[in-house]
Amino acid sequence: MEMEDKPGVSAPATGHETKTPYVSLVIPVYNEEENLMALHQRINQTMRDCGRNYEVIFVDDGSADRSWSLLNEIFELDKEHAVIVQLNRNYGQHLAIMAGFEKTRGQIIVTLDADLQNPPEDIPKLVAKIEEGYDTVGGWRGNRQDSWLRTLPSHLVNRVMGASIGGAIRDSGCMLRAYRKEIIDQINKCPEATSFIPALANSFAGRIAEIEVGHSAREKGQSKYNLFRLIQLNFDLMTGFSLIPIQAVSWAGVIIAILGLAFAGFLFLRRLIIGPEVEGIFTLFAILFFFVGIQILALGMVGEYVGRIYREVRGRPKYVIRQMLRQDGSSRGTCE
Ligand code: UDP
Ligand code: MG
Repeated sequence: MEMEDKPGVSAPATGHETKTPYVSLVIPVYNEEENLMALHQRINQTMRDCGRNYEVIFVDDGSADRSWSLLNEIFELDKEHAVIVQLNRNYGQHLAIMAGFEKTRGQIIVTLDADLQNPPEDIPKLVAKIEEGYDTVGGWRGNRQDSWLRTLPSHLVNRVMGASIGGAIRDSGCMLRAYRKEIIDQINKCPEATSFIPALANSFAGRIAEIEVGHSAREKGQSKYNLFRLIQLNFDLMTGFSLIPIQAVSWAGVIIAILGLAFAGFLFLRRLIIGPEVEGIFTLFAILFFFVGIQILALGMVGEYVGRIYREVRGRPKYVIRQMLRQDGSSRGTCE
């Protein structure tokens, strides 16, 4: 998208003279009962100081704890700013954010986690950067406060992503990010159900900025990502944005076939010159197992793409919103 000569977002509607939000915060919530109240309080403080009209869209991603009733409380306390969306079950962080995107009304959209690992106090920095004229602003965590069990897989995700989509994102695991409304409008048009929002957004953006943001250790509750979910996310990322992995598998197949042929030629010559070989049978097994492994991997790789294609062509709703609480009174459930 050509954005070069597009001016920054038009004059911020500061003050409270108009009710239309200028900044929309989108926060996925999955079993965060211990963090919600503090989060809401810190957001309110920050946004009041920042002097922009705003709304906070909490998306309850099928929480099983008290999150939903706390969100209701937050709504009662702060009808002016809070918007609560409830999904009918757990869909995962990225789809929850997508559901929130659909309800945004602001010119600038900011995502952050509910667990207070992303300091809400950094929001004005992101907003200011978008106002400078950038389409997306990504945060990267200068002092990441997670255990190595959590950072190691992320490091791998960043590496794989760097290789498959060109490495435009410095810290893909950091969800403290801001987007211009036009980018979110494009994302809202995307029917794909398996996606990775920062990469999707950047694919629509002309001007991308990245700034350092703070990071705290998770004090309450647990990380919802285990190794399995991270691998799944990584596959979404690779298959969603690049054909390189599957092409690499084809190329590996071609190279292995050539090597195998050369090896056969070598054995044939050896037979003519030195005579038939009898030993080395186990070497052969070793080689065989190696290639069998590669074949299974290749099949799996194809399967990952096919599975995702299947899911997309079925075209089932990405998520189902059970209800929404918003001051204008809309609380209807919708299918997306
Ligand atoms: N989250 C969600 N649905 C899920 C998993 C997580 O909405 O299925 C939310 C979670 O409540 C939090 C954010 O996504 O606001 C990030 O999750 P978490 O802190 O567990 O991830 P990590 O910080 O370990 O990357
Ligand atoms: Mg976290």
